[in-house]
Amino acid sequence: MVKDGDWNCRKRIYFYDSTLRDGAQGEGISFTLKDKLSLTRKLDEFGIDYIEAGNPGSNPKDMEYFEKVRKIRLTNSRLVAFGSTRRANTEVYQDNNVLSLLKAETSAIAIFGKSWDFQVENIIRTNLDENLKMISDTIGFMKSKGKEVIFDAEHFFDGYKSNPEYAFCTLKAAERAGADWLILCDTNGGCFPDEINTIVGKVSEIFKAPLGIHSHNDCGMAVANSIMAVKSGASQVQGTINGYGERCGNANLCTIIPNLQLKQKYHLIADCKMAGITKLSRFVSETANKGHNEYEPYVGNNAFAHKGGMHIDAVLKDPISFEHIPPELVGNERRLLMSEVSGRSTILTRIRKFAPELSKESSKVKEIIERLKKLENEGYQFEGAESSFDLMVKRSLGKENEFFKVLDFKVWTDSKRNLLNSTGAVIKVDVNGIEEITTAEGNGPVNAIDKALRRALELFYPQLKVVRLSDYKVRVLDTTQATAAKVRVHIESTDGELVWGTVGVSSNIIEASCFALVDSIEYFLGEWEKKEAKIYGNDYDSENTGCTCRVGQSAPGSDDTGQP
Ligand SMILES: [Zn+2]
Repeated sequence: MVKDGDWNCRKRIYFYDSTLRDGAQGEGISFTLKDKLSLTRKLDEFGIDYIEAGNPGSNPKDMEYFEKVRKIRLTNSRLVAFGSTRRANTEVYQDNNVLSLLKAETSAIAIFGKSWDFQVENIIRTNLDENLKMISDTIGFMKSKGKEVIFDAEHFFDGYKSNPEYAFCTLKAAERAGADWLILCDTNGGCFPDEINTIVGKVSEIFKAPLGIHSHNDCGMAVANSIMAVKSGASQVQGTINGYGERCGNANLCTIIPNLQLKQKYHLIADCKMAGITKLSRFVSETANKGHNEYEPYVGNNAFAHKGGMHIDAVLKDPISFEHIPPELVGNERRLLMSEVSGRSTILTRIRKFAPELSKESSKVKEIIERLKKLENEGYQFEGAESSFDLMVKRSLGKENEFFKVLDFKVWTDSKRNLLNSTGAVIKVDVNGIEEITTAEGNGPVNAIDKALRRALELFYPQLKVVRLSDYKVRVLDTTQATAAKVRVHIESTDGELVWGTVGVSSNIIEASCFALVDSIEYFLGEWEKKEAKIYGNDYDSENTGCTCRVGQSAPGSDDTGQP
């Protein structure tokens, strides 16, 4: 068994992504063929070792994928077709599912087989000997075809707890037949890290073939179990991006990869690739059409967000006071949340992004703080809507680049028609002196005005096509005013990579929404312009020069100063 001390040795750990197969079994996830192809490209670009792409025998869509994917040149990843051992009492070369795995033409094949006597006798209802033959026949057949074979020992840990001798026999059958990998699966996700440590340790003492771990998250332990398995001898980790998967999901590779490489000093990918993980995680959320989990370690929007005034103050003095790693390492960024509990130093830091020369005493800073107080009194809240705050600062400093002006808009609702597209909006905008009027229909007034505004602006700024709303929240501020009450609209927008929040307040919900939408588009265009300027070398961006944050050193275990 692995002991403390010989754990961190830059040992190479291979990682195996099953987002396209196990991940696609998560509720509400359905990847189109096009989605699967673009996910494959992104996973390869990031540097995933193995991409488990589907089960060609069970799904015609997967077969079509394997035909199309051959045209993509992968530079880092090896594609894997996934399927089961032959059925009981058949010849392996006559089993259609097994044969369809060959049609996928991948160099690696994952074969799953039963390791738990209960499953053999009660679920697939065959005898224990026949199950061993099913494993060895199928693996032997794939080896005879020159494939790299990954044996997934399904329910291995439950099998070991029920009948350890038999569970070992299944691994032996696979190893003898030539399996290149033995993957120990916690298929029901019921194990604890100490059990994983003991069992993986025992397996690694007996077997020569390299081991892997495949954990599900039913006890919330999938990440911990995967890491424990690596410490106990496994050199392959299977999981999915964002932990997507059936029931409570699979082991989350976006947590495991930085944990193993940045915190435990194993080697998984080129160090320079690590900063791509936040982008990859967001890309997968977008493609899966799932709201990104902003609390996700390393890659969530909140992973490095600070709110408490004292915490922010400490982070500004030295980020290691409340950050376990520098966010840049994983391509994420530090966020200082604007709220009534954040102090003056937070506000000053944000102002100095745009005007580094200003000090606490500057009259401009005082003016902005007064303006902030006034807006907060009116019902504005900038927490989660920092982009609106940044725009307010830029406007106060006269540094705003006005991309467009909304001159007028009207919204109407036709009560006689059914609800879908029963609302229309017309909007008049001015872009550099050119006026444009557009109309749009929507399934509600906000949707209609959003569409009309984009339609008008996309004529001038086609880059807006990728922007969409990812969240929309309305809060009534003074409930005593009933329907005349003021509302605060908070929207979150994304272009598939970045996420930003904006806010609008008015007693008219359409107007409040319009304020938030205008801020969202203006913020995006400002960021886009900055990016273009960087690409074309005209980098006039002064935003980062004023930040007082410095990049801290990773200091595992030193992230707590005793405050809650
Ligand atoms: Zn699984």
